[in-house]
Amino acid sequence: MRKRKLKKKNIFIAFLLLIILIFLIIFIINHLPKDNKKETSVFKTEQNKWEKYKYYLKNNQKRYEVYFSTHPEADLNDVIAIVNVNADKEAYKESNEANLQKGQEILVNKYHSLAENYTPKSMVEMDKKYAYEGRKALPEVNEAFKKMYEDALKENIEMYVVSAFRSYTYQGQLYTNYITTYGEKYANTVSARPGYSEHQTGLALDILSDSVEMKDFESTKAFAWLKENSYKYGFILRYPKDKEYLTGYAYEPWHYRYLGKELAKKVWEENITYDEYYAYYLDN
Ligand SMILES: [Zn+2]
Repeated sequence: MRKRKLKKKNIFIAFLLLIILIFLIIFIINHLPKDNKKETSVFKTEQNKWEKYKYYLKNNQKRYEVYFSTHPEADLNDVIAIVNVNADKEAYKESNEANLQKGQEILVNKYHSLAENYTPKSMVEMDKKYAYEGRKALPEVNEAFKKMYEDALKENIEMYVVSAFRSYTYQGQLYTNYITTYGEKYANTVSARPGYSEHQTGLALDILSDSVEMKDFESTKAFAWLKENSYKYGFILRYPKDKEYLTGYAYEPWHYRYLGKELAKKVWEENITYDEYYAYYLDN
């Protein structure tokens, strides 16, 4: 009797084990491929945590990691932007020549310079009606500004160009004056070294209104209008607020860069600095 009971118990245990085994096999079959996938994706995320960010550039990955290791508190989007525009490098010292082949898309900043003898080919003198005397710019820039000026005027908004093309030599004098007045550190945030100014391309304009000084331009109607409309004429605000860590310059509500209507619209819609836009979309 006891033996039989034991045998019955053994069969029961064996049966139970078999069922557990079957369930286990089904479970493994159902879950193994998924788990494998999961593992791969976890692995990938750790390898390329940068990849999911919009402006990630594969070539810059090492530099993202280096920058982040010394700035662990930084937002990863910022790290990517900083590295993309070269702001992890030393301004002026680690710079290359600006790519002249880019035409009106050219990027000139503290990492992309122009030669001392570089002068835009054909410039025109801007009309005294809307510019200080003797201001010169590329013909397409002059035309675009003229149209913008006329359209703004229809809405009773007045604006005029105080600075347009600046030669290497003239930029040098300006820069030296700033250093003499304010010291080098501050001068670098408000003035470009000769060879590093967008004004040398003939594509940049400083615009003011209502006889206000530069520091007060932000509060004018003209600025509010330009902020919403300048891209429609091919101009973008080149040094926006709170972007000094990317552009290298303090906020300049008066400084506009001509890019042509099509590109200006794209940059405006993307809502990033031209340094970032150029690095991601045009620097190839
Ligand atoms: Zn300017």
